[in-house]
Amino acid sequence: MKWEETDFYRFRNDGKRVRFFRYVDFLKEKYGERIQKLTVLTHMTCPNRDGSKGVGGCIYCNNDSFAPPAHLREMTVGDQVERGIVALRRRYVKAKKFLVYLQAYSNTYESLPVLEKIYSEALAHPEVIGLAIGTRPDCLDERKMDYLKELNQQYDITIELGIESFSDECLRRINRGHDVATSLWALEELDKRDIPVCAHLIAGLPGDSRANFLESAKQVNQLPIHFLKLHQLHVVRDTKLFEEFLEDPFPLFEKEEYFDLIAHFLEDLNPSIVIQRLFGEAPEHLIVAPLWEKNLSELLYQFSLFQEERDSFQGKNFSK
Ligand code: SF4
Repeated sequence: MKWEETDFYRFRNDGKRVRFFRYVDFLKEKYGERIQKLTVLTHMTCPNRDGSKGVGGCIYCNNDSFAPPAHLREMTVGDQVERGIVALRRRYVKAKKFLVYLQAYSNTYESLPVLEKIYSEALAHPEVIGLAIGTRPDCLDERKMDYLKELNQQYDITIELGIESFSDECLRRINRGHDVATSLWALEELDKRDIPVCAHLIAGLPGDSRANFLESAKQVNQLPIHFLKLHQLHVVRDTKLFEEFLEDPFPLFEKEEYFDLIAHFLEDLNPSIVIQRLFGEAPEHLIVAPLWEKNLSELLYQFSLFQEERDSFQGKNFSK
């Protein structure tokens, strides 16, 4: 299942080329109004942290770098949604509908009855239109996916799947605790149930090469992946990667080097795949390296100039 390919997304009304298929444009086109994502913490954990698959987690993971602020952590999911909507409405006056994003840890890592309760709570607010559920491929099973299929009839459900790499060697090196075959299995089962997937990939992982990462664009094209989040490897405090970095500092992407990599990646990518993210972020007090601009809009602007100078755009080298 892929959204229809169309030239509509390649040119704007003023005739300028669209350099990549932005999520914000996809949402506007699909809903005809501004949709805001609202991040909520579900208090689930992760099999790579609680000992069932491993302890300590993936070597780069510090969930504090993407969890909501501490004062929200004691609140129920329903209260976080209520409060989050009030805050977002103040900030984005045009936001009328909301997608609840279950981001930190693995948000299908509970029994089905517990998941049903948490998801229902998140969806109870009348202005919530769906869920983006972040999880690992090994935290899905057929019963859970059947339930998600049902839920997807009524709401917009997307699974944000941490694939991270299409190399088993790389996954082992980062202590991911699952292999590529498990990701492929989850993608196939979600596709059978028509559940859209946003795949997460990290560029610059230890043991990964530029060629390897670029090859993953071609793999994504062959798979039932509808949205993509790309992320440069960065080192944050209180992680195994941080310890390795202190002991023996290794090179990370320079900004221009990463621009060049993702521009090439996008050129090979099917233009109908929607890009939800191109740059990873972490709070200032946690990030150690690389230290680029803190402002995401500024980074995106610089990247758009980079693409323009090279006449680079998503799908430039894509052929079916
Ligand atoms: S990155 Fe995700 S899967 Fe890995 S340890 Fe952290 S929460 Fe678990």
